Amino acid sequence: MSQRTLVLLKPDTVRRGLIGEVVGRIERKAGWSITALELRTLDRGTLEQHYAEHVGRPFYEPLMDFMASGPAVALVVEGERVVEGVRALAGPTDPIAAAPGSIRGDFGTIVRENLIHASDSEESAEREIKIFFPGLA
Ligand code: GDP
Ligand code: MG
Repeated sequence: MSQRTLVLLKPDTVRRGLIGEVVGRIERKAGWSITALELRTLDRGTLEQHYAEHVGRPFYEPLMDFMASGPAVALVVEGERVVEGVRALAGPTDPIAAAPGSIRGDFGTIVRENLIHASDSEESAEREIKIFFPGLA
């Protein structure tokens, strides 16, 4: 079941020099490929669309500020069960609860600054890919 997913390497990943580390883990999964990749500082409008489901939550405004605080990397990854697979590589939202071996578990301590976003379903992936890569079919 080949799928595609939208991944963001959050500004903490870029600031800390971990782009290669995180992209490398995705690249090394057999058969997956990166089909779009861009370094970009995200604007408020893009982030409002992306995080629409979280409007009104207490963490929403600090999350928006953090996500706009420096360049991020947006990528599209395609391959076998890639939606579930990248979520598994990332680990759960809270990096302290995330198992060692996962990206968040290995590198994170703060819930907001948890290194990576990955679409949570095929429907979310298609919605999010349109936001970040509107030219992609
Ligand atoms: P994800 O799908 O694992 O990224 O988690 P969510 O969709 O629930 O939340 C989106 C992002 O908001 C997370 O990745 C965190 O950066 C941040 N976040 C979520 N829950 C909390 C929280 O309880 N506190 C804080 N400070 N940030 C949160
Ligand atoms: Mg989410």
